[in-house]
Amino acid sequence: MTESTRTPDDTSADPRAALERLLEGNARFADDAPVHPNQSAGHRRILTGRQSPFAVVLGCSDSRASVELLFDQGFGDLFVVRNAGQVVGGHGSAQASIEFAVDKLGVQVVLVLGHEGCGAVAATVAHLEGAEPLPGSMQVLVDLTAPHLDPADPSSDAVERHVRGAVADLRGMSEIVAAAEAEGRIVVAGGVYSLHDGRVRAVELPAPR
Ligand SMILES: [Zn+2]
Repeated sequence: MTESTRTPDDTSADPRAALERLLEGNARFADDAPVHPNQSAGHRRILTGRQSPFAVVLGCSDSRASVELLFDQGFGDLFVVRNAGQVVGGHGSAQASIEFAVDKLGVQVVLVLGHEGCGAVAATVAHLEGAEPLPGSMQVLVDLTAPHLDPADPSSDAVERHVRGAVADLRGMSEIVAAAEAEGRIVVAGGVYSLHDGRVRAVELPAPR
């Protein structure tokens, strides 16, 4: 990985415009009108010595939630961190990767992206309703998701609650993210991707200016 060449006084770095760019890409994808930007061999060659992605996305590993595709972005646009259930905690690798994107690459957006039909969230709901712990190391996914759900009714808005909880985890655990947000260098958001219509619905947006 190389560090960003974007300078700190780069006035093109407007975090809200960057979030809009991401959501506009999703609208193109959902409308079945993607432009597949930045995917040519020429663009690949431009990026050989540097990268300046405008957003970091923490998404689920689910094969149906491919981040660059659903946001209609190309090489060099997004720094993508994925694990099953887009969990932040555990051994901290997701958090560290997000901090690298914020601190070293100068991304302007941090987005936590959940999705409909998430197996990791479903496993957490099942566990809270009495299922046995998952084998191997998989239970960590459940343990990091469970605190975000409604203990009285785990299945209620589970995906949405988990995205909001992961955003809160990130803000609470990462001084780098919290400071960048407080200084207005980044916006932090959360969304849920619909497998049905391809749209990302925002469930956590930056506060109005
Ligand atoms: Zn998932």
